[in-house]
Amino acid sequence: MGGGFCLKWEYGKRHRESTRRRRRLCLWVLLIAVVFIAGYVVIQSSSSYGFTWAIRNLPRKFPLDFTNTPTNIENAPVKTELDSKESSRSEFLMDTFVSIRAVGLNPEQAIQAAFDEMHEIESLMSRHIPDSDVSRINQAAGGDPVRVNDETFHVVEEAIRWADLTQGAFDITIGPLMDVWGFGGENPTVPTVEEIEQARALVGWDLVELDSENRTVRLPMQGMSIDLGGIAKGYAALKGAQALSECGISHALIDAGGNIVSIGSRPDGEPWQIGIRDPRGESMNDTIGPTLSVVNHAVATSGDYERFFEHDGKRYHHILDPKTGMPVEMVRSVTVLAEDALCADMLSTAVFVLGPDEGIKFVETLEGISAMIVDSAGNTIFSTGFNEM
Ligand code: ADP
Ligand code: MG
Repeated sequence: MGGGFCLKWEYGKRHRESTRRRRRLCLWVLLIAVVFIAGYVVIQSSSSYGFTWAIRNLPRKFPLDFTNTPTNIENAPVKTELDSKESSRSEFLMDTFVSIRAVGLNPEQAIQAAFDEMHEIESLMSRHIPDSDVSRINQAAGGDPVRVNDETFHVVEEAIRWADLTQGAFDITIGPLMDVWGFGGENPTVPTVEEIEQARALVGWDLVELDSENRTVRLPMQGMSIDLGGIAKGYAALKGAQALSECGISHALIDAGGNIVSIGSRPDGEPWQIGIRDPRGESMNDTIGPTLSVVNHAVATSGDYERFFEHDGKRYHHILDPKTGMPVEMVRSVTVLAEDALCADMLSTAVFVLGPDEGIKFVETLEGISAMIVDSAGNTIFSTGFNEM
């Protein structure tokens, strides 16, 4: 009996306590709701208190939603991310698609400035534009030195410096070999051994005469020609990025045919994510290796799938070994990470020619550069620090 009473009493006590707790909880919930509703009403009705500004300036997630952007915030003291817009555009330029995506106050204007800059680089450095600096240098081969624009001189000088460092694996005097393979034109074909040998006799970076005082370039033998196809897109991407930055853009991505430059992070503070195309993937979206996280960095990929033709079941592509005059066979693609887009572009071609062993060894000697190679069997080979930024 006593035990039963005790139980009942205990139960009654617990029941009363829990009822009291429930009541207290309800009161708190009610109080919090009242405070929230009151706060909301104050914010909605009185932007002059400055609450609107404070709340609207909280960091926003990417992509930015501009549909509700107020155009007349009173007493907003500074331009903020709120005024930012995102814009993107693609153009066919330098024989490839170039796309730019930018976030900032005037992204359309900034993108226009970047494209103007890149068109300018193309008009100086294309082999296919008759009055470009490169065409003038090539036409004058065997004759007088040719005075060129500062930018052209800089790129040629850099190319020659890297030719020296790569012992000629990267060689911009590859022009005659590109021509016998017909890679610049509509109908590339396999040349004869004689044609390759004749062309090879006209290739040699160490023959190029540079005069930095007068900014002249001279090719000493008639028939020699330079081809900046392995470096100019990277330089154009670099200049495009500079133009965007000068226009106040702090979050942007340029992709110039596999030469990617990032300005800052994504607007949400996260790094840009870049996948590497699988050289034998069925679609452009098939990737290989790690997804790269990049902030203020350049990534360039050179692949045997960019420009190639098949003859008797064999693939012939546009990255040539200057020593043999033949397309490089040991590699399918090379991706290089570097701070500088010119370096990334040039090195992706250079490492391709050097091949998996020599290429990785060479990259290991360079500070701030890392690479991934997909070899001819489809294996991925990494240099130290690839994607560990
Ligand atoms: P893509 O032009 O497809 O982006 P790359 O950056 O690797 O690829 O550049 C390939 C181009 O580089 C070729 O089209 C040619 O103009 C040039 N090229 C080919 N072989 C060499 C080489 N050994 N050294 C320097 N430039 C080269
Ligand atoms: Mg390149």
